[in-house]
This record gives sequence, structure tokens and C-alpha cells, in this order.
Amino acid sequence: MFPRIIFSDFDGTLTYGLSLGSFFFSILDLIKTKKSELVVVTGRSVSWGHFLMTHTDIVAVISEGGGMLTFRDEKGLIRDHALLPDQELNRLKDFVLKLKQNFPEVSLSTDSLGRVADRAIELEVARPKMNELAGLMDAHQIHYSCSNVHMNFWCGDIDKYKGMMHFLEHHREEVNIEDCIYFGDSKNDESVFKAMKNTVGVSNIRTVIDELTYKPNVVLIGEHNEGPFGVLNYLDYLSRK
Ligand SMILES: [Mg+2]
Repeated sequence: MFPRIIFSDFDGTLTYGLSLGSFFFSILDLIKTKKSELVVVTGRSVSWGHFLMTHTDIVAVISEGGGMLTFRDEKGLIRDHALLPDQELNRLKDFVLKLKQNFPEVSLSTDSLGRVADRAIELEVARPKMNELAGLMDAHQIHYSCSNVHMNFWCGDIDKYKGMMHFLEHHREEVNIEDCIYFGDSKNDESVFKAMKNTVGVSNIRTVIDELTYKPNVVLIGEHNEGPFGVLNYLDYLSRK
């Protein structure tokens, strides 16, 4: 059966490297043809969610690693909902000041301006100082995770899977998680790989697969299954099953 909802990571999964191409729209077309829905689950900022939902048929975006949910209300207006308490949002603001004092040379990603529940450092900026940055974050009970583009950090108990379950419980009560699927490519998808049965890693996940404690149920292989091509091939296979 074709999945009722397709949950998917964005960078490296729906994009090829960083490129958004015609393949992305082929995925959207196939999902629409099958009367299914796409929910993007990304480490990108909440403002990216507004863009994606304004210009495509994507029904909801869980962003900032599971800290924010963007959806349409009953009037069709785009709404944001923070999935963690104000207290944690304020603790994060305070930590950013400490980070700047300790590492004045480490700038936040430009899209941190549009972030609410987390902040990000470009991976290439963070990489040379990774151990020191992680040490400061550990000392202040700040969580962090790396996608293929960013080192993200946040306060509180959020992850991609919790964001997905919140969406199902509050916006798609009739849908069972067993009837959904998840596509991902990186370490920040691990909470979903751990908790959900129906998960697929696109073939570029090979670069981090040995670092994952919890791996996707299906791991695609071959260059023809990288990122969005893997998503499209797998959905096409499911549509013909
Ligand atoms: Mg990714």
C-alpha cells in the first residue's frame, strides 16, 4: 500500500547535494497522484517552512530538528507552533551569548536569524572546533546534532520523531504511524530510524551509516538512488506494488 503520509528530511534527501531540481517536483507530483501527503522534517529554520508551504503542496513542515511545526489552520492560514516551552527558548538565547563570548570567531549560520527553537553553525565553520564547541554545550546541557550542512544546537527535549508524532496526534488523528514512511540521509534522522519501523535511507547515507546506532529499515544503494532519486525510485516502486 502506498504510504498515507510521506515524512521526509530535506537536505540530501529531497535535494541532490544542495540542489533543488525537477526531481523534487516529480516527487511532489507522484505523491499528489497517489492522494498521499508530504511532510518535510528538517533541521532547517522555521522560515524555510513558510517558503516550502507557500509555493508547494507540502502540507506541513517540522523544522529546527523537531522544535517547530508549521501547518495550515482551518482557514488555510500558515501557522507556527513551537514544540517546547518558552523557558527553554529563553535558555537557548542566554546560551548563544555565552557561545559568542567563548568563541567570538565562530559565527552562527545566516539562517539562524529565522530560527526560534534552535540555532545553527555551518558545518565547515564548526568542524575545526567541534570538540571545544561540544564541550561547552555539554557543560550547559545544550543538545547538538550534525546534519550534512549544519551543527544544530537547542535546549529541551525535541527531536524529529517527537515532532512527527505531535503532528499526527494533533493534525492527522486518523492516521497511524504504521501507514507512513520516512526518508532520511544523515545522523539527525536517527531519532526516526530508532522509533519508526517504515524508514528508508537514501544511498548517500553510506557516508555516515557506520556512525549510526539506529539505522533505517531499508538502505538504498547505488548512485541512481542518491537523495531525491532514491526517494522517487522507492515511491515509484511502492506505487506499483
Ligand atoms: Mg539530511
